[in-house]
Amino acid sequence: MISQECYELGSKSSIIREIFSFGLKRKAEVGEDKVYDFSLGNPSIPAPPSVKQAILELLEEPAENLHAYSPAPGDPKVRAVIAESLNRRFGETFTADNIFMTCGAAASLSICLKALCNPGDEVITFAPFFTEYRCWVEATGATLQVVPPRIPDFQIDTDVFEGMITSKTKAVIVNTPNNPSGVVYSEETVKRLGEILRRKSEECGSPIYLITDEPYREIVYDDIQVPYLTKYYENTLVCYSYSKSLSLPGERIGYIVIPDRIADHAHVAPAIAGAARVLGYVCAPILFQKVIEKCVEDTGDLSAYRRNRDLLMGGLEKLGYTCVPPQGAFYLFVKALEPDAYAFCEHAKKYDLLLVPSDDFGCPGYVRIAYCVSEKTIVNAMPAFEKLMEDYRTNAV
Ligand code: PLP
Repeated sequence: MISQECYELGSKSSIIREIFSFGLKRKAEVGEDKVYDFSLGNPSIPAPPSVKQAILELLEEPAENLHAYSPAPGDPKVRAVIAESLNRRFGETFTADNIFMTCGAAASLSICLKALCNPGDEVITFAPFFTEYRCWVEATGATLQVVPPRIPDFQIDTDVFEGMITSKTKAVIVNTPNNPSGVVYSEETVKRLGEILRRKSEECGSPIYLITDEPYREIVYDDIQVPYLTKYYENTLVCYSYSKSLSLPGERIGYIVIPDRIADHAHVAPAIAGAARVLGYVCAPILFQKVIEKCVEDTGDLSAYRRNRDLLMGGLEKLGYTCVPPQGAFYLFVKALEPDAYAFCEHAKKYDLLLVPSDDFGCPGYVRIAYCVSEKTIVNAMPAFEKLMEDYRTNAV
């Protein structure tokens, strides 16, 4: 008998992938420019020129340096460069030993969860949340507990959160800027989170770890600051990825920060290395580790996302849609025009608008619109959004 759990995960794709595949089929039928696909969070801007330059320079190095295994946690020089950058930007005191190179945020999160959790443990996250958390948590034998969304500001309902913590709570996952809401948790929210976790860890007699998932850290608008969570709670592990800031999602490169000051560091750090081993995520791609060494603080031209946000949100609000104003990432969370977001997305398909229903994000009644698309797609999609609104206004649905 094979693993039923894996069979089920593999035999049905995620709703996002399903809509994306539908979009590909539909584009083949009616033409690329007639389908407004807002399903996937694939960066629409190119990697910065410094990435190409770094690759070209690296290709001149002897092949044995370029394509070999790195040490399991990554190249010490690359890790030192990342630690220095974090120290400069966030007033930290990390060294190479605090950085573990991984294959993107997905690997970073699965490693942290595998390292920390035993069957029967609980992991808490906040709705709306990135759908893959559920399978990464459940793969460890732990269960995912979801704090309901705080509508309309989509910050964290800290009182409800506090009430959900039990002696089984091993970790809490927080994602800011958030996919799918685009909200950045405020300093006030983050401070309160730290206070609760500190108090509850003491009450329960064992540390509750905070895992921060922050692939969108650099994609923020209106001079918003994203608090660096290690500064607010000592037992924080940071999961970072270059998929979005450098537009390198296909290269699978990121890291985990394991600060010296986390509780039981002597066991947690080796457990991270052990989890990476069990999951097969050791020796992250070395060519891209070396690219990161050269481009550690670079980003693509992220201003395109701000223009898209303004264009899309401005256009939709003018038509009467209710939007959650995104402070970061490249997603707009919009109230569906009927309670059933699935039915609303099905209806939107009539106009070749491909939107993602919010149920799997733990927050029914909304849709996610990924605006990492060309400006032209947004402009051309507006008449379709208008017709969709018109259908609901005139009860033609
Ligand atoms: N976490 C969030 C919130 C994401 O949106 C994504 C990807 O879209 C990931 C994790 C996975 O990122 P990566 O491609 O770096 O594995």
